[in-house]
Amino acid sequence: MNRIQIILDDITCLSVDVIVNAANESLLGGGGVDGAIHRAAGHELLAECRTLKGCPTGQAKITLGYQLPARFVIHTVGPIWRGGAAGEAGLLASCYRCSMELAIGQGLATLAFPSISCGVYGYPLAQAAEIAVSTVAQVLSGNDQIRKVYLVCFNAEVFAAYTRALGLLSPTG
Ligand code: ADP
Repeated sequence: MNRIQIILDDITCLSVDVIVNAANESLLGGGGVDGAIHRAAGHELLAECRTLKGCPTGQAKITLGYQLPARFVIHTVGPIWRGGAAGEAGLLASCYRCSMELAIGQGLATLAFPSISCGVYGYPLAQAAEIAVSTVAQVLSGNDQIRKVYLVCFNAEVFAAYTRALGLLSPTG
């Protein structure tokens, strides 16, 4: 599945059609990747986010990218890890699926995802990585508009977990 590429990078630096933000339900900014995206995009992003009236967990909304190299930002809200029996896996898969469907609906072809819920939301890394790669692969298998999905890892531990998960999905590469 070479339309999926795992990279170690800062998502705010990528020149893709759309980067995905791991936002919170307010969509009004936060820490981690959300804070980095808002800082890099500039204050107009927050102004547009205010018009969206938030976003439920597991769903996604799109804005322009403003000062970012990416043209658009899709804001999705990952689940907070509560032990695994609160629907977290379904909600996390829904973040990836809804974001990709939104991108497809907008005619976009290159996307970059951060590791949603793997920061302050506390999702176990190995499980989150498996959901990320399997959900992305599943959507790609039913769509040929999306040319490339970058799974952007911010440190070596995340990169290793994603590489392992992709290997489990397609052992022959
Ligand atoms: P969540 O609240 O969904 O857990 P976080 O922003 O706390 O979101 O973390 C999600 C992941 O994004 C973490 O693995 C974190 O290391 C990573 N991250 C933080 N900043 C960046 C960035 N600039 N580019 C890519 N990934 C980032």
